Amino acid sequence: TEELLRNSEKLSVAGQLAAGVAHEIRNPLTALKGFTQFMKAGAQYKDHYLDIMISELDRIEQIINELLILAKPQAVTFQKRPLSPILHHVLSLLESQANMSGIEFHTRIGDDLPDVHCEENHLKQVFINILKNAMEAMHAGGRIDISAVQSGPHTVFITLADNGPGIPAEVLSRLGEPFFTTKPSGSGLGLMISQKIMAEHNGRLHIESELGKGTLVQITFPVS
Ligand code: ADP
Ligand code: MG
Repeated sequence: TEELLRNSEKLSVAGQLAAGVAHEIRNPLTALKGFTQFMKAGAQYKDHYLDIMISELDRIEQIINELLILAKPQAVTFQKRPLSPILHHVLSLLESQANMSGIEFHTRIGDDLPDVHCEENHLKQVFINILKNAMEAMHAGGRIDISAVQSGPHTVFITLADNGPGIPAEVLSRLGEPFFTTKPSGSGLGLMISQKIMAEHNGRLHIESELGKGTLVQITFPVS
């Protein structure tokens, strides 16, 4: 029954998303079509139009990339996994990109963390989404503190904190809303998908932020 519940939850996620996706992809496509016709008709300032077209294409690509994770329901299998290698793997994936942006990772990840019942790739996607948001927010470099500890017998507590610009109140209240983004070619799907994935894991994702100080993402989930 648990498995069935998870599957039906996934179907409804896909259903909710379908209408939104069609809408969000149609807008940049309409723009692309317009610019293509415009250029065929011999428009001037082609470079400028090409830049806009590339950014519209980037947006479509972002949306597709982030949705692919939900598009493979057959691959979803919950298994007992040790948590610290999952976190270390994600950090190693993002390390060189962070280095190039002048961002340092500081970690406090216990070796004695318990196993968690998880869909490993989905869980990794949550950490990637959160860390990428932090990295994208810190244009002048900075630091991200990642900690993971067992909190009581039944819970693991993970925090990811950046010292970036923080999130204004009017943005904070809309986080997790599908397609809500402040980035020119963002998908606005990262946090919504992360929240859905944490719900699949019977966990919680909570975000706090202070302007000028940074953003703290807290993840709580049950030990298997
Ligand atoms: P996207 O990254 O595609 O914009 P997300 O759902 O991942 O979509 O994030 C939504 C918005 O939340 C971002 O556009 C950004 O404005 C804000 N945000 C998320 N994380 C941070 C962070 N660590 N620092 C500042 N702003 C953030
Ligand atoms: Mg994002």
